[in-house]
Amino acid sequence: MIGHLQRSDKDVPARCLVIDLEATCSDDGAVPRDEMEIIEIGAVIADRPNWAPLAEFQTFVRPVRHPELTPFCRELTGIEQCDVDAALQFPAALASLTDWLAEWPDAVFCSWGGYDLRQFRRDCQLHNVTCSFAEPHINLKEEYAARFQLKRGRGLQWVLDDRGIPFDGRPHRGIDDARNIVRLLPLIFAIE
Ligand code: AMP
Ligand code: MG
Repeated sequence: MIGHLQRSDKDVPARCLVIDLEATCSDDGAVPRDEMEIIEIGAVIADRPNWAPLAEFQTFVRPVRHPELTPFCRELTGIEQCDVDAALQFPAALASLTDWLAEWPDAVFCSWGGYDLRQFRRDCQLHNVTCSFAEPHINLKEEYAARFQLKRGRGLQWVLDDRGIPFDGRPHRGIDDARNIVRLLPLIFAIE
């Protein structure tokens, strides 16, 4: 084997729930890291052997700590103030996601890096609710780096550029990020 590590059938989940979150943020310290809150949940179900998308879920979420989005956050994500003003707060959004997920009980939560899991935990703690699907979690950034023997985990855009795959949609929109992550599953989970 040259260039990538061998993966056996048993290491590969049958079905993935790929989630990408967007959150309140700033470039001037107005939203401290530990006060970030989810403003969009994008989720795509995909399964073996082709990892074609089977179902999608998207919702905006209304933040409570910093309800006014910063210009930086609106620019980064393309999410407008009216999108979050009209949205449910996190507990109701999570309940809606969990209801949708009931159809896919075997799907394993995957995301690009550890951020999305940490942010779910932070919002659950803030609102004193629990997340039924948080464990197990597959860090696809680490999986990709291990499989292709990168020295460190790389951002989604870096990997797509490296593969010559144009980003489909708008980067830093949760549902578009999730869709583009799903396009990499055949590479990450290919079985020799
Ligand atoms: P992403 O999935 O890469 O779009 O990032 C998720 C969230 O992380 C974003 O909604 C922002 O809250 C935050 N974030 C991403 N990139 C940056 C950045 N360059 N500066 C500040 N926050 C960021
Ligand atoms: Mg994103």
